[in-house]
Amino acid sequence: MNRGVILENLNQECPWCGMEIEDAFHLFADCNFIKKFWDLFGGWWNSRICSISTIEDLFGLCFPISFSGNGKMAWGFAVAAALWSIWTARNDRVFRGGSMNQKDILLHTKMRALIWIKNGNSNLQLCEDVWWEDPSSAIIPAKGMRSLNGYLQKKEVSSLM
Ligand SMILES: [Zn+2]
Repeated sequence: MNRGVILENLNQECPWCGMEIEDAFHLFADCNFIKKFWDLFGGWWNSRICSISTIEDLFGLCFPISFSGNGKMAWGFAVAAALWSIWTARNDRVFRGGSMNQKDILLHTKMRALIWIKNGNSNLQLCEDVWWEDPSSAIIPAKGMRSLNGYLQKKEVSSLM
């Protein structure tokens, strides 16, 4: 599958609002419709996304300062999944008359990011039940897992003695 994003049919109306001319920045960030999506996305992470006023701000979302380690990695997957879900929702609307709303796009984002994380080569471990509502709490810290394993091994050993 080719994941390259090429905006071919520019100079047409924004598929979300039908008012502005579609360009990448308007489509992914500046349209009022998609701003509401980013609000929902931020809410999902218990974070507020400050205004995205340039395309650099949009790419800057991939490198948050408020998360570290695995949280940062999970957030990166989520932002990539959000951008990809916006793009597929746009194509669905333009080519097939689809009418996904912001909540639908968020649901697709959550599903995609989860699949990518699970299929990726990262060591990222997630509690899937928690992922849908509170992704930053869903991340299982690698250190915690090691100490849990150590604890269980000790317990097993002590129960043998
Ligand atoms: Zn628009």
